[in-house]
Amino acid sequence: MSGKSENIIELKHISKVYSDNGFKAVDDFNLEVKRGEFVTFLGPSGCGKTTTLRMIAGFELPTDGQILLNGEDISQLPANKRPINTVFQRYALFPHMNIYENIAFGLKLKKLPKEEIRKKVKHVLDMVDLEGFEDRKISTLSGGQQQRIAIARALVKKPEVLLLDEPLSNLDAKLRVETREEIRRIQQEVGITTIFVTHDQEEAMSISDRIAVMEKGVVQQFEVPQKMYLNPGNLFVAQFLGTPQINIFDVTVKGGKIMCGDVVLREGCKAADGNYKAGVRPEAFNVSENGILVKATHVRMTGRELQLRVALAKEELRVLVHSDMQVSVGTEFCVTIRDNQIILFDQTGKTVGKY
Ligand code: ATP
Repeated sequence: MSGKSENIIELKHISKVYSDNGFKAVDDFNLEVKRGEFVTFLGPSGCGKTTTLRMIAGFELPTDGQILLNGEDISQLPANKRPINTVFQRYALFPHMNIYENIAFGLKLKKLPKEEIRKKVKHVLDMVDLEGFEDRKISTLSGGQQQRIAIARALVKKPEVLLLDEPLSNLDAKLRVETREEIRRIQQEVGITTIFVTHDQEEAMSISDRIAVMEKGVVQQFEVPQKMYLNPGNLFVAQFLGTPQINIFDVTVKGGKIMCGDVVLREGCKAADGNYKAGVRPEAFNVSENGILVKATHVRMTGRELQLRVALAKEELRVLVHSDMQVSVGTEFCVTIRDNQIILFDQTGKTVGKY
């Protein structure tokens, strides 16, 4: 490892236009990844996550811009010359080899002494919690275990950066959650800088230090999960994070009042008079004695909470309440919206403020 800079990877104005169809998959992407950080590229299918990851790995070359590793430009360096390893969606393990042979493969190519290889393989198997699995066949492992072997195989070469391209997408829901926890544990124990690609916002929020939300090849926001959830920079980010989805509806600000139709949602708002889109998360409502009168139109029990739809002026909003609330379709009750939980967006979708 060279250089003392806090940033291990810097992407400077990276763009990618595919020459076969002229499609701009990545557009002026800028990002700095700190040493030891777990960063996730999150966005809908086709937004350019994989293309960006492949440029960092060296499988694609950027059309414009620079990729720096420890301050050095590696944009034109072939993949096998970069101290970066990738684990893909499909495990790409060798099915005819046992686990020891799978992990040792790259080290044997490097002609390392046998004893050293044995020690290194044992060490990474310990890391991924699969000690003693050396002789097992790949086919006898669960999907989650196979993915951990793929990570062990990447780590054994001691890369400076680990890239994970949707590594959990072949796993069922329960295993997905278990394996993502396992990946985070391994990453923190090893302290390896990791860039992870997913389209699953909950997955991204639960394991990342910072998330880059992308849309149409452009980074929308790069932030730590909680801050991004509470302070989305624009409408796209607000709607992409969170389930059930944030409520988005038209409001007017007049003399410091935020109005939905004739209903006053907030007083003392500092935004200029005008028309806005408001964003209020379903969990931002408190049921109260007084406040904004609403009427339940749908009630769904999920166990932990009741998911309601309520009529408010001309809108129908998603509201989460405790599962012990006595409510059925037609019940009228009052709610308040917690402080700083009304996000206003201007007509272009940019966040104006929280009230
Ligand atoms: P997904 O989650 O579906 O994998 P993604 O966000 O990773 O999507 P990319 O795979 O980076 O998106 O693709 C971005 C865009 O570039 C897509 O519209 C895709 O069709 C296009 N694209 C990807 N690879 C190529 C290629 N080799 N040639 C031409 N266009 C491509």
